[in-house]
Amino acid sequence: MKKDRFTSRREFLRKCAAGLAGAAFLPALARSRPLHETQSKDRKFLCRTLGRTGLRLPIVSMGATRAINLVHSALEEGIVHIDTSSIYENGNHERMLGEVFKTLSRDSFVIATSAAWENFVKDSDPPFDKIRKKFNPKILQEEIEGSLKRLGLDFIDIYYIANVYSREFALYEPYMKVCENFKKAGKTRFIGITVHRNEPEVIRAAVESKVWDVVLTAYNFRKTYYKELRAAVREAAAAGLGVVAMKTQAGVYWDKARTKKINMKAALKWVLQDENVHTAVPAFANYEEMMEDLSVMEDLTLTLEEKQDLKLGEELGFSGLYCQHCGSCRGQCRDDIDIPTLMRCYMYLFGYLEPKKARETLRSWTSADISCKNCQRCEVQCSLGFDVKSRALDIARILEVPKEFLG
Ligand code: SF4
Ligand code: SF4
Repeated sequence: MKKDRFTSRREFLRKCAAGLAGAAFLPALARSRPLHETQSKDRKFLCRTLGRTGLRLPIVSMGATRAINLVHSALEEGIVHIDTSSIYENGNHERMLGEVFKTLSRDSFVIATSAAWENFVKDSDPPFDKIRKKFNPKILQEEIEGSLKRLGLDFIDIYYIANVYSREFALYEPYMKVCENFKKAGKTRFIGITVHRNEPEVIRAAVESKVWDVVLTAYNFRKTYYKELRAAVREAAAAGLGVVAMKTQAGVYWDKARTKKINMKAALKWVLQDENVHTAVPAFANYEEMMEDLSVMEDLTLTLEEKQDLKLGEELGFSGLYCQHCGSCRGQCRDDIDIPTLMRCYMYLFGYLEPKKARETLRSWTSADISCKNCQRCEVQCSLGFDVKSRALDIARILEVPKEFLG
């Protein structure tokens, strides 16, 4: 894979425009140079081409970063590609980005957002039949129009169907048709799917579809099946799909008490060493984290210390906060609890310190108490060694806190 190094945002944008010239929908790029060029920073950008989209992007992009000042800083530091979703903060994350975009020229950033089926299927873990029954092209139309309005844009760069979890789902024709129509109508330049679980199967289905342009996949050093995932990513890149990685930092902390932070730089390097990953979308909690992530572009080699850091959890006996969604706990609970979602809420609460998000996710799944409270014995075996019952009890407490206290 060819790599470029640029010394400034200005230079990046100039060269990027040349790289984009072959893409199908580019009147904006020919139109003007960005109005909003900020002071050039002395930074090197390692870029890769996002498959057949032709977009040349720095390998570090930005995920759901919440503070508006941090988004401005990221753009000033040279980040170009931002990822969001209609589901983040009930659309408020898109609204916040819309405020930022008012100050920018349209050709100075690349925005990806997604339609989340959770918005219209009130179930955290539905069988695909349920999604299919609820599906209605009008809903998807409303989803994209809502995103465009909140972002204050005429078009999106990459529009994803979020949280696709099976081959059948990835190849579901009505979804593909509606998304292709969005492209034809100029509402989005490229279309794709996002995947948090069962990634190898879904990524291979995206290749098979010949419709999706980009896959946004969970990918990190905590995935026990990373070799298979890596092989699927290789096939996707070879077939011309753009590959974007998320959840690269695997829950941020090793432990609930947040005494041991995952070496984020090492975790990001680990993913980006795979050249078939074209860019990653870590979320930054603050300026220091952003600068740390950007610094990986200087050198992707993992030092001996960084390699050791990626094994720290195992050495200290921590199983981490990230549920890899391997599914091996499915069917083990006598009450049919949705354990992966419960574990995800646990990560939101203790890893991301986002109690509101944890509670909202929990409530989207159950309006009742969590039955683990009255369960005498938990026999669920997690592949990463989570103590499922104790985590369930910790997360159940959040339902006892009035939601106005959760910020
Ligand atoms: S403790 Fe919870 S997850 Fe474990 S078996 Fe009981 S109800 Fe299921
Ligand atoms: S077995 Fe563990 S890691 Fe796998 S999905 Fe269940 S809780 Fe998550």
